Amino acid sequence: MNQLVGFTDKGLYCTQGDFYIDPWRPVRKALITHAHSDHARHGNQEYITTSDSVPITKHRLGSHIRITGVNYGKPININGVKVSFHPAGHVIGSAQIRLEYKGEIWVVSGDYKTEDDGISTAFEPVKCHTFITESTFGLPSFRWRPQEEVFREIRGLVSAKQRQGDIQHYRGLFVG
Ligand SMILES: [Zn+2]
Repeated sequence: MNQLVGFTDKGLYCTQGDFYIDPWRPVRKALITHAHSDHARHGNQEYITTSDSVPITKHRLGSHIRITGVNYGKPININGVKVSFHPAGHVIGSAQIRLEYKGEIWVVSGDYKTEDDGISTAFEPVKCHTFITESTFGLPSFRWRPQEEVFREIRGLVSAKQRQGDIQHYRGLFVG
């Protein structure tokens, strides 16, 4: 087995491709699974993420950053490693990152959600030899209510705020 990703003091690193994934400290080339602050951090020389994540990442980190957006499923080559981004279903633009090198395939999940929320592009299972998964809230102690129940509650909250005049513009999210 060819190891494609390992831990370093800056985070997940692919030696063959000489890039990091969601690094904790500033690096030269950072592949970003999604724009949340614990994944897309300040100070990297170059960012590569999904096309949908580009505006969100720039909004968070500044329009001066050097960033490239790649569409879901479109492979790019980084120093001989075939890299592609696949929907993670976590937030808009979130991706699992698939790495392929000499027939070995690894996937780094980033944060993901397997239930389709109707807003984020739905999670796509990706075949691989090694899957690096995040599971911040995966412990059995976390119990989640059904999505529809939560959405109903949010819609009710928005309606109440509209009636009170606190919200003028409501763009119809969660109308599912
Ligand atoms: Zn996240």
